[in-house]
Amino acid sequence: MLFKTRTHTCGELRQDNIGQQVVLNGWVDTRRDLGGLIFIDLRDRYGLTQVVFEPSFDKEAHQFAAKLRTEFVVSVEGTVRKRPPETDNPKIPTGHIDVMVKKLVILNEAQTPPFPINDDNVNASEDLRLKYRYLDLRRPSVQNNMLLRHRMYQITRQYFDKQGFIEVETPVLMKSTPEGARDYLVPSRLHAGKFYALPQSPQTYKQLLMVAGMDRYFQIVKCFRDEDLRADRQPEFTQIDVEMSFIDQENIFGVVEGLMKILFMEIWNKELRIPIPRLSFDEAMEKYGSDKPDLRFNLEMKTLNGVFANTSFKVFQDQLKSKGTITGLLAPGCGEYTRNQLDVLTDFVKKIGAGGLIWMRVKPDGLDAPISKFLSDEEKKNLVETLGAKPGDLIFMITGPRLKAFSIMGSLRLEMARRLDLIKPDAEPKLLWVTDFPLLEWDEQTKRYYAMHHPFTSPRLEDVELMESDPGNVKARAYDLVLNGNEIAGGSIRIHNSELQAKMFKTLGISDEEADYKFGFLMNAFKYGAPPHGGIAFGFDRMVMLFAGESSIRDVIAFPKTASAVSLMDDCPSTVSEEQLKELHLKIK
Ligand code: ASP
Repeated sequence: MLFKTRTHTCGELRQDNIGQQVVLNGWVDTRRDLGGLIFIDLRDRYGLTQVVFEPSFDKEAHQFAAKLRTEFVVSVEGTVRKRPPETDNPKIPTGHIDVMVKKLVILNEAQTPPFPINDDNVNASEDLRLKYRYLDLRRPSVQNNMLLRHRMYQITRQYFDKQGFIEVETPVLMKSTPEGARDYLVPSRLHAGKFYALPQSPQTYKQLLMVAGMDRYFQIVKCFRDEDLRADRQPEFTQIDVEMSFIDQENIFGVVEGLMKILFMEIWNKELRIPIPRLSFDEAMEKYGSDKPDLRFNLEMKTLNGVFANTSFKVFQDQLKSKGTITGLLAPGCGEYTRNQLDVLTDFVKKIGAGGLIWMRVKPDGLDAPISKFLSDEEKKNLVETLGAKPGDLIFMITGPRLKAFSIMGSLRLEMARRLDLIKPDAEPKLLWVTDFPLLEWDEQTKRYYAMHHPFTSPRLEDVELMESDPGNVKARAYDLVLNGNEIAGGSIRIHNSELQAKMFKTLGISDEEADYKFGFLMNAFKYGAPPHGGIAFGFDRMVMLFAGESSIRDVIAFPKTASAVSLMDDCPSTVSEEQLKELHLKIK
């Protein structure tokens, strides 16, 4: 089909262009057919321009324009004029002009889309939008998210390049070396019964690149984890992956803070003050009940073991005896909560594993609560003082094993922030480092330790001795970067010595044979002069989501999968032919 390519985009024309002959190409966004007069808003990635058909401009074009429907693809040629006052629209950049069309070419017709392509009334279900993602992607807000993502890639690449990092691609077909999650497997055609795995992250490769002397590596890279998906997870996701040699934690923090400073300025036009504040894992858990605390509001938890050290209240006594914790949270101004409201909150904490929720209303003449009679006056006084409670406030207490009690109270803290509307939409973003994570995590079900970060993370050197005697108390040289209650990056200083790595595998209950089979290549490499090294990886999708102010990572991924790992658009995963299975030496049971 013959058509003239555009002279301008649909977002480009201004009053300066009045009188010019122009060609625009784009989609019909809206049309108003007033009979003698047809107005079309023409849309492309750059904006909207009103174009007008009138018999006096061109009879044929005007007649032809009656055929136009939304989402038709057209090319128009005409003259730019000042809009008549009644259609002037200062809200859009092209709103003071329109184009008097002399020639119209319909480049393609379109069926009526299953939902309107605009941002104002998106009532379509997310499933429908994902099925027609290419139409959803025409919406300006989704296009803006893609644009933002693009800018963040560019800023990232420029930044790391300037800092002397080199981008190296690592394989997508690799050996299955589980890092914590389940691998996606790819059957080998050439080697019957053998499988490649898709990388959960390029962790081992980037460490090998350090052994290879690359010194400073980064990569914007796809990672794959076959997990049951939670709200903001995807089976494939993007990391900014970073590794550095001859460094310690401070060097990594410095590089990351530099990137965050630029992103804050370029994307949000905000000056980020560095160094970014730090909290140890222990502090974060104790004060906020989370290893990714949201610091946009205060509500700080207080450990009350001291207050009740000599209590005669049995529940507390039992907890203290079994090395448990009593943690308290003050809900300011909630002293009038009804029994019903308190029951709802009790159910909330019970659902996430609490035995119960202790509450106390603070009154001018004391504490009003079912357990009040079990506490001494001294205890009540200390409790009120420790929490800084005032009449009209409400006190919550939760008891249990340390981390469990903290984390349940942490969830209640977030719930109260939501109920009290403490996170304002324009709240200053809050970044922090969480440091000194435990090296290991005990799993009650399998009765063994797992690496809290991954098995290549170095213990704190002063704790190495404890790896046998008291593994649960070994701290790691691991850190997370947290933005508004979301973990956006995590990393560690690595083990770079094959003996310590072997010791780590042993602590994890991985036999020598298994370690050798799975990680022998890495341990071997460490025997040939591995430099001290460490790194970090950013969850890029989540980071873009936060910078875009969205609440789902699907909104910042061009072709995301649903929460059940399905792509509704191309209907994947899908079955394959018998022939394909045969070639891969597979049979479906
Ligand atoms: N590979 C790690 C991860 O994906 C990040 C790191 O330790 O650098 O979580």
